[in-house]
Amino acid sequence: MKKLLEDAAQRSIAYRANIESRAVAPDRSAVAGLSEFCEPLPEHGTEAAETIAKLDRYASPAAVAMTGPRYFGFVIGGSMPVTLAANWLAGAWDQNAVLYNVTPATAVLETVSMGWMLDLFGLPDDCGGAFVTGATVANFTALAAARHRVLQNEGWDVRSDGLFGAPEITVVVGAEAHPTLLKSLSMLGLGERRVVTIDVDRQGRMIAADIPEITGPVIVCTQAGNINTGSFDPVAEICDRVGDANSWVHVDGAFGLWAAASPQLRPLCDGVERADSWATDAHKWLNVPYDCGLAFVREEAALKSAMAVTAEYLTTESEHRNPSDYTPELSRRARGVEVWAALRTMGRRGIAELIERCCRHARRFGDELSAAGHEVLNDVVLNQVLVSFGDDATTLRTVDAIQRDGTCWCGSTVWQGRTAMRISVSNWSTSDDDVSASIESMLRASGEIEGGQPG
Ligand SMILES: *Cc1c(COP(=O)(O)O)cnc(C)c1O
Repeated sequence: MKKLLEDAAQRSIAYRANIESRAVAPDRSAVAGLSEFCEPLPEHGTEAAETIAKLDRYASPAAVAMTGPRYFGFVIGGSMPVTLAANWLAGAWDQNAVLYNVTPATAVLETVSMGWMLDLFGLPDDCGGAFVTGATVANFTALAAARHRVLQNEGWDVRSDGLFGAPEITVVVGAEAHPTLLKSLSMLGLGERRVVTIDVDRQGRMIAADIPEITGPVIVCTQAGNINTGSFDPVAEICDRVGDANSWVHVDGAFGLWAAASPQLRPLCDGVERADSWATDAHKWLNVPYDCGLAFVREEAALKSAMAVTAEYLTTESEHRNPSDYTPELSRRARGVEVWAALRTMGRRGIAELIERCCRHARRFGDELSAAGHEVLNDVVLNQVLVSFGDDATTLRTVDAIQRDGTCWCGSTVWQGRTAMRISVSNWSTSDDDVSASIESMLRASGEIEGGQPG
């Protein structure tokens, strides 16, 4: 066992040591090499060492250097050395993070890190919370609590009686709600399309004044951090507008909620603390390994009522927090271990610096690309930059050339009808030099495309 684990550690270390010098996207031959895995299920066992060697030989070169400093696609963090190390240790423990009495170590680490995050975000310290796979499930979890609470207020127990025949809930979303928020609504039986959709402004922010007056149970889904522009819905204004009748305001803050951890950027989150529930990711901006998201709910009892399971074989009585009382899953990995390691290692200042540094890099991308004559389509308020290199086709060809160059990786998007390249700076290790090299590569690519050089 010792040899096998040391070998795997050496291979992992070699992969990470090489991450800055390799091309971000794997080359064609590496991807072609994946055919080595397409073999029939072996009839007999193999040496474990040989299995790991094969994994490293063919999968490592075909991995995308997503965890490296010049991956700016989607909104993707990269695990920090300490969060990867904590992940290895937690993997060795192999704990099922269900109940305090079953795995006290991981339950304590999750309780502690949840408290730290509520503090960082300026949310009440007695919120309920859940460690889940990502913001999609965090939205689902928080909205399940919302559904439960607003129907309970109408005298309806959705957990027992389901939705057939229940009082109607009006669900309000912005036109720029993340597609996974709509998916969460569909999984909750609230429907992706039976929502009231509110128009957004040029930055993708919900126009609060357009929210109609609603009587009866209502759930309003707001967003902190638009995946294209990084913009924030005006949550304070929305809370004023919605009022206190049987309403619930939810914030999808998958990455944007982390702005609250920076004194400089916190004003972007103005009013977010007035909401009833929040979803965020740790695998994006906190830079822990996949997968890790968090749901927070102001009224702990609402979350617990929606999620807790009782069964004779689950001895839940304990004065401690039982993690599975708050999550859709019963058995799951102990995600809180890496979150604890990240928060403790960086500390309040370090976390603020990480968030501010990424935003500074984003502003530099915006400034230098626009100084070079390219149009930046959004106000760069956070870590997201949208760049057009000309007409839609030219922009797409430029993005393709940038990806092929391999210095960095950015994807394309369509923002309010225009094709753009999207730069998301979310990685702890991105340096000024990485930004310089990436801007150079972008300008080189766009020069080649404009110059009509064959791509
Ligand atoms: C990324 C993101 C999601 C989905 O998060 P996952 O972690 O991929 O499940 C939801 N909402 C917003 C605003 C996001 O940025």
